[in-house]
Amino acid sequence: MLKPQTSDQATNQHATSKHATDFSTDCVHSGEPRQKDAGSITTPIYTAATFTFESTADLLRFVNGEEQREEYGRYGNPNEKSVEAKIAALEKSEEAIVYGSGMAAIVGLLMTKLSAGDEIVFFDQCYHRSREFCAKHLSRFGVVTRQVTTGDYDAMEAAINKNTRLLVSESPTNPHLSVIDLEKFAAVGKANEVETLIDATLATPYNMNPTEYGIDYVLHSATKYLGGHNDLIAGVLCGRSEQLEPIRKMRGILGNISTPHNLYLLERGLKTFALRLQRQNENGLRVAQFLESHPRVERVYYPGLESHPTHSIAAAQMRGFGSLITFTVKDADWKQTSAVVDAARIPRIAPSLGGVESLIEQPLVMSYYHCTPEERQRFGIEDNMIRMSCGIEDGDDLIADLDQALSV
Ligand SMILES: *Cc1c(COP(=O)(O)O)cnc(C)c1O
Repeated sequence: MLKPQTSDQATNQHATSKHATDFSTDCVHSGEPRQKDAGSITTPIYTAATFTFESTADLLRFVNGEEQREEYGRYGNPNEKSVEAKIAALEKSEEAIVYGSGMAAIVGLLMTKLSAGDEIVFFDQCYHRSREFCAKHLSRFGVVTRQVTTGDYDAMEAAINKNTRLLVSESPTNPHLSVIDLEKFAAVGKANEVETLIDATLATPYNMNPTEYGIDYVLHSATKYLGGHNDLIAGVLCGRSEQLEPIRKMRGILGNISTPHNLYLLERGLKTFALRLQRQNENGLRVAQFLESHPRVERVYYPGLESHPTHSIAAAQMRGFGSLITFTVKDADWKQTSAVVDAARIPRIAPSLGGVESLIEQPLVMSYYHCTPEERQRFGIEDNMIRMSCGIEDGDDLIADLDQALSV
């Protein structure tokens, strides 16, 4: 288990680009029982939809709470337990709840916490489906959503009133990679007795542990770095057991669970999580530095670069900066920008991020094509913007490939 860290230690670790040495060990071993069925070294895939009781007396022991065990697949299974315990250890939180997707985790939390008349406040740079769920759907249930400018902690505090239940942000944000000051964000919540949620999908527990700064809930789309192989969809919510208990119960009602096969893949992916992130942090920084020095690149958004407006927060609160980079092509219209994307040979054109395969996309075409120009401007999506997620390929290869793509 990792010991709690002060932000000073985190900074030092970042400076020497070293992680606590036991992180990788936790990736491989934590959460799993040492001895498993049949001596299996891997967690067997428990396909059971339901779990049997020996007798009524056996059932009564369970019903009376004298025995903790599985009952019915919607309420949990052994694959879920081991992967939840592993992620909780990596995130240094008491507990984790896994879901069928990152969105299922967000929806699961919000549907548990919010009632008609309640309000939430969130920073405006955020995953577009989270924004859509709040603005279009929570509103149907009488929940009020207030958006404030990302990083404006005073505006966030000013938007809080007696009905506010939750403050929400991503860190880093997508696609602008703005990093939130977790200490300040948590302080605004605490001062006003409002809970806080950070979607830390882009940071991952390898680079940052928001609960150490007093954040209540940490959310990940496990589809991205945690799974890491572009072969599964999953989500996870981490926090204190007491706070998560009603949310877990709600998952049993909503049924937004993952499957044993999927959870096995997630557990398998997590074994190499530290190794992958080490390479991805390295590739991310190298590629970002290369792009910043390239004459055809106008601007690079990457929290590891000193030019990023939130670099100092990132340097203080993160151990590494991840592998997602957004950049704009100098004097290029949207078609010339597409030509750069099309010329890249290693990264594949696809949404998503964080996997072993590098992915590239033009946000205008991929996710914001059906928005009006005014909406795109409001979301900060430019025609000449490209977003790239570096995988674990050789960094020199990625740089050489981008160099040739930028020369088209
Ligand atoms: C992908 C993503 C989500 C949604 O996760 P899914 O697993 O696709 O449902 C939420 N937040 C962020 C920051 C993401 O990148």
